[in-house]
Amino acid sequence: MAGAVRILVTNDDGVHAPGILALRQAVDHLGEVFVIAPDTNRSAIARGITIHDPLVVDEVSMADGFTAFAISGTPVDCVRLGALGLIGDPPDVVVSGANLGLNLGDDVTYSGTVAAALEGVMLGIPAIAVSQDALGGGSGPGLDYDFSAATAFAAKLVPLACEARFPRHVIFNVNGPGVPPGELAGAKVTRLGRRVYDDSLVLEGTEGSARHFRIYGEPMSHDMQPGTDLSAIDDNFLSVTPLHFDLTDLEGMDHMARWRLDELLQSVAGVS
Ligand code: MN
Repeated sequence: MAGAVRILVTNDDGVHAPGILALRQAVDHLGEVFVIAPDTNRSAIARGITIHDPLVVDEVSMADGFTAFAISGTPVDCVRLGALGLIGDPPDVVVSGANLGLNLGDDVTYSGTVAAALEGVMLGIPAIAVSQDALGGGSGPGLDYDFSAATAFAAKLVPLACEARFPRHVIFNVNGPGVPPGELAGAKVTRLGRRVYDDSLVLEGTEGSARHFRIYGEPMSHDMQPGTDLSAIDDNFLSVTPLHFDLTDLEGMDHMARWRLDELLQSVAGVS
């Protein structure tokens, strides 16, 4: 990599969220830093993209005066804009976060924070996603967060991610437990765990023929599987999970080899 490393910082909580300020300040010293982030909170939008409307790009000041691009679109739109010329050449690395709340286990598929990092990988750009539990646990705005350890740790991962030669492109999904840096138990490489969702359908009211339901909001529990991101966070470890975009289940392919799909197809009407 010739010259200074070019770092694109994005998130899904919006350009004015405290986590992206903390992450940008943590990577500032590493090279040339650009911020392209949604203009509002786009959490849980996963890999959504904007296809019907033009993308509005505005320049805004972050709380410390740094000029950032605020985008009317999604986290993935932000990475696309960065890769397609909004900041000149594509970035060398994408860092996404720090999210207000953890992105662990099955939740990574909902996460805009993780989706932005995956978009980097899709485009051949190394990427790191960073998420932080609130102090004492929890997610979302209005809680107390200490981003210092997770963001500084992510900054240390940037050169490793840029130099890493994995067989497949991976992102590094970093999660910080809800404790002050002095109480961290350590850092662990983990695999994704399994959430147990305790959601229920709650009828909140009616308006004519329309019923208003709420599904989400119950605290989630999880399987206590050792080696997972969920159990690492439970034990106050920083968790790093390498994720790739290939969702293919190789064991499933082996199992399906016995299914004789050719015979199935020949039994379909109109196929000879
Ligand atoms: Mn978020």
